[in-house]
Amino acid sequence: MKKIYAEILAIGDELLYGQTLDTNSHWISGELDKAGIKVIRRTTVGDLEQDILTAFAEAETRADIILITGGLGPTSDDLTKPCLCKYFNCGLQINEEALAEITQFFKSRGRELTELNRQQAALPTACTKITNTIGTAPGMWFSKGDKIFMSMPGVPHEMKKMMTESVIPKLLEKFKTPIIHHQIIKTVGIGESFLADKISEWEKSLPGHLKLAYLPSLGEVKLRLTGMGSSLDDLKHDIADQINKLKPLAGDYIYGYGEDALEFVVGQLLRERRLTISVAESCTGGYLSHLITSIPGSSDYFLGSIIPYAYEIKMRQLGVKPETLEKYGAVSEPTIIEMANIVRAKFNADIGVATSGIAGPGGATPEKPVGTVWIAYSDKHQTVTRKLQLSKDRMINIRMASMAVLNLIRLSLPPKS
Ligand code: ATP
Repeated sequence: MKKIYAEILAIGDELLYGQTLDTNSHWISGELDKAGIKVIRRTTVGDLEQDILTAFAEAETRADIILITGGLGPTSDDLTKPCLCKYFNCGLQINEEALAEITQFFKSRGRELTELNRQQAALPTACTKITNTIGTAPGMWFSKGDKIFMSMPGVPHEMKKMMTESVIPKLLEKFKTPIIHHQIIKTVGIGESFLADKISEWEKSLPGHLKLAYLPSLGEVKLRLTGMGSSLDDLKHDIADQINKLKPLAGDYIYGYGEDALEFVVGQLLRERRLTISVAESCTGGYLSHLITSIPGSSDYFLGSIIPYAYEIKMRQLGVKPETLEKYGAVSEPTIIEMANIVRAKFNADIGVATSGIAGPGGATPEKPVGTVWIAYSDKHQTVTRKLQLSKDRMINIRMASMAVLNLIRLSLPPKS
């Protein structure tokens, strides 16, 4: 099936000056993807006639569909309409239907229609008007040979309504688009390049209609498999088949699929096993508990936490032995073992976990540089520890240490009885 290509063109100086984030292009990309239309480029141009005209011409050479947002307002810096007139070699004319809609829009709000507002009903004669049901600037649909140009307001909620109610249905009527289906496979505990090494043979053997993307973020790597075809069922089947082949290669590194966050998956595992957990977190300062409790229903398994940040609190409130702290220091295996065991006992929980490390930028010693973190997991059968050597960045260290504990819980839990 022929692929249908789209280019998104965002117009406005404020986008280039960093005053407005171009959320429109991001959102439109997602909607086109769902509709089976491939976005090949996103372009941003300022309020300059020549730049806008050049962008139109270049987009036309690349894409079947050119979706434009912004610059439709009634003020002099809004150039999209005059540019469209030039590009399609036509004039502006009051569109009576648009005028009636705009008049009604103002009447229903008890406001007077000014001449500037009236001008919003002046549309290029070469376009088909698309009604803006929640604003005053109508959309404009142009056909040029096999290509479509669609101009929409910049105001995000107006553009979104126009896209979902009118533009996507019209595009799907005109173009026969393939079905695109994505599946996200989430991994943790392995870096992108190591993962790529492990699964390279599998990746090479993927059939042509399936594509793989690596999406690394802090502490985890997502794999996205994208299939393109004519049957959703076939695509789902083909992707499931490939995931089954991937599982033995990526093994325990895979923790979930789709939108599942690691803290959600760990919560499910605890709930299924009817186990409770408590946390003693020093260097993560509450972030680990925050992740755990961000999951609705976490009170089923999370009992509570203590943040023994200071030396004295580690001793007096938590109960780590002074000899341990003196001999080995707060960032050490013996201390982290005590922290996890004690918090489990104190809270009468099935599992205790703990963190202690040097988040940075200060506090390092030659033996313990910034990013040195000890984590521990304790249940009635075992105590498991890990030493992590993370980064120089405080927030990255806090986030990655918390993710590492969640992963340690996932890998250390007893099997479901
Ligand atoms: P209207 O005619 O309804 O005023 P417009 O088409 O003239 O809309 P602009 O004047 O360019 O649109 O922008 C209107 C508002 O929408 C502004 O607040 C602007 O910051 C915002 N906006 C414009 N383009 C984008 C974009 N690409 N992403 C997010 N917001 C945008």
